[in-house]
Amino acid sequence: MLDDLCKVSPLGVGGFGRVQEKNNTSKTYALKMLNKQHIVAMGDQDQVMNEKDIMLELKSDFIVRLYKTFKDDDYLYLLMEPCLGGELWTLINEEKGLSHKAAKFYTACVTEALIFMHSKGIIHRDLKLENVLIDSRGYAKLIDFGFAKKVGPGTKAKTMCGTAQYNAPEMILNKGHDTAADIWSLGVIVFAMLSGSSLFADKDDDDIKTFENILAGIDVVFFPTEIKKIAEDFIRKLCRNNPTKRLTAQEIPKHGWFENFRWKAIRKKTMKPPFIPKITSPVDTRNFDVDHLPEEKKYPSTTNVSSWDPDF
Ligand code: ATP
Ligand code: MG
Repeated sequence: MLDDLCKVSPLGVGGFGRVQEKNNTSKTYALKMLNKQHIVAMGDQDQVMNEKDIMLELKSDFIVRLYKTFKDDDYLYLLMEPCLGGELWTLINEEKGLSHKAAKFYTACVTEALIFMHSKGIIHRDLKLENVLIDSRGYAKLIDFGFAKKVGPGTKAKTMCGTAQYNAPEMILNKGHDTAADIWSLGVIVFAMLSGSSLFADKDDDDIKTFENILAGIDVVFFPTEIKKIAEDFIRKLCRNNPTKRLTAQEIPKHGWFENFRWKAIRKKTMKPPFIPKITSPVDTRNFDVDHLPEEKKYPSTTNVSSWDPDF
């Protein structure tokens, strides 16, 4: 399989590369390469198998599709749908906050992904602006299911994971968490889109202080004036301290912030996106910061890495 592809350009960190078909049909893919030595050294074997199984189950227009997996002696490969518009994070930084109209568009895309995942009992657990990518048409899609978890009805996940400033309080307090943890993170995302700033992050990036801010809760947060009252109400309902009191993904479309919003047009993808990415060719990586990617770490090839991945 790998022989049919040729590398075009890197896209992101995490041992990430992008690949184009050799026969030059201009069909491009995003290829996530996972170094086996690294996986074993970090003890991430289960997480990787889990990422693959979950992604294969999630066939939605708002989630990056995993087409195929394969492996060789050194790497596991995830061949995915490419999203060449870059990360939503980059867009928000460039724009220093979005209009309500644009923020609603991206929130609706993420909500569609969550409605679908949550109906299958799958929690993303690392929902953040960096894990929302823009495709070539300008629609947003979720990526990075490395921390995702499937939970049965009424059961809860235990392991703390994700990214501090997006963590829900029940995760920090180790109380067990479910799909409502993603809803909390969505609240943090919506606040960032509208204000250009982070809801709970400590200004010096101190995780402990960030956790204190999260545990102090949304009630003590002052909302900037560019966030309209109806959007403030929406964010407060996503970030309720008690996870059972938060809106569910299913309930989001009914909130007043989305009054007159054309959900059908989002689902059918007939709505015009707020920004159309500048992409001149299928190998155009201008929307990715490809000049500052860290070097791949080298591992001694002494560890036996061959026994745990027969199903990959
Ligand atoms: P991290 O630990 O930093 O989250 P990771 O190993 O989990 O990294 P991903 O988050 O899946 O890897 O991908 C790393 C980066 O590669 C993303 O932030 C994104 O910029 C880019 N990327 C991932 N998937 C795609 C895709 N389908 N199309 C384009 N770029 C992608
Ligand atoms: Mg990621």
